[in-house]
Amino acid sequence: MNLLRRHPIALALLALLLWSALQPLPGLVDAVTGTVPTGADLVRPTAYTVLAPLSNVLDALTFLSVQRAKAFLAVWVVALALWGALRRGPLGWRLARALLGPLAIVLLGVGTVLLPRPVPSLVTSDSGVTVIDYHAHTAASHDGRPGWRAQDLAAWHAAQGFQASYVTDHNVIFNQPVDEPIRLLPGVEWSVYAQHVVALGAVAPIDRGVYNRDTRAMLGLFAELHRQGALGLASLPEYWEHHWGDLNEFVAAGVDGFEIVNCAPRAIGFPAALRAQVLQLAAQHDLLVVGASDNHGWGKVTCVWNLSSPSAHGYAANHVIARPIALAQGDWDAWTAAYTQPWLMLRALSWSERSSWITWILVILIYRAVPRRAGDSAGIGILARSLELFTVRRPPG
Ligand SMILES: [Zn+2]
Repeated sequence: MNLLRRHPIALALLALLLWSALQPLPGLVDAVTGTVPTGADLVRPTAYTVLAPLSNVLDALTFLSVQRAKAFLAVWVVALALWGALRRGPLGWRLARALLGPLAIVLLGVGTVLLPRPVPSLVTSDSGVTVIDYHAHTAASHDGRPGWRAQDLAAWHAAQGFQASYVTDHNVIFNQPVDEPIRLLPGVEWSVYAQHVVALGAVAPIDRGVYNRDTRAMLGLFAELHRQGALGLASLPEYWEHHWGDLNEFVAAGVDGFEIVNCAPRAIGFPAALRAQVLQLAAQHDLLVVGASDNHGWGKVTCVWNLSSPSAHGYAANHVIARPIALAQGDWDAWTAAYTQPWLMLRALSWSERSSWITWILVILIYRAVPRRAGDSAGIGILARSLELFTVRRPPG
């Protein structure tokens, strides 16, 4: 009872870790069928699992939609500031605590975007498929991370199990030969009349003005890409936000496929009900459906991979494998993000990650529970001595 009173947060967290295990989410789902993919698995490096509380929190923060990120930040900053200010203690301490909590949240946000760290990797047992990304950026894009070269992008992809990626900078054609650590493929992301068209292949420059007049003119780009021997995909969030009523016209104009998952904060909230409608349209017309990391050099993890069969074409050619927490972004109201994002994160933990969380909590509990002798400073020595409490004391003699 005493333990419960002194460490309510640690014990609540332990309870949540066990409770969420009763409603588990798989590490990966097929974004088309909603089932757990066969032949694809998420492999977590040892360092990732050892640091699971940090790894999982930073991943979960990466997969927030813009609206949910704002709500998450607002609620936690206010809650932690109030919690710090209203606890007992001298005014100076309370002020410091009221600032430290919100500062920690902001630092976590910065860490999510910039901190180098181990990342999970997708492995597939099917040697007939290529793990590929259809949409990613370098510093050549106006919103790309400064200094983010093609080689950095290739390394980012390789660390997560990709075997190839198209490079699709905003209105800047990519055609550098990069083969290591993975192959980078030529492409571009054309911005035309409130739509982004991801063009795949050795594309040629275009006069964007021709396609910028209206929707009809914009749709002419697909025929032009076909003339160049390239493919044109409709990107998220633009067709969702600006052209939702035009999708049949996209098909008639020759669109080769649709993004159905895109990890960019503005696109990750694409609702499941709308995804189902696009899937129906794509299946009907045998069009490609793809996932896009849309990486710009910020953040360390992708929310989606593609398993692509070079021999197949159209709807059957590609399997979109996503993190469930990313697919859920469009299904929960933004204002719930402060608790639904942690809950989705906890539900999706593997057993090794869950064990890591529990170990960290117990270590911290033991460290804090053992009274310090007078003159002792906080340090790892206290932890070592605390652990001695658990060793069997043999009777003397
Ligand atoms: Zn993009």
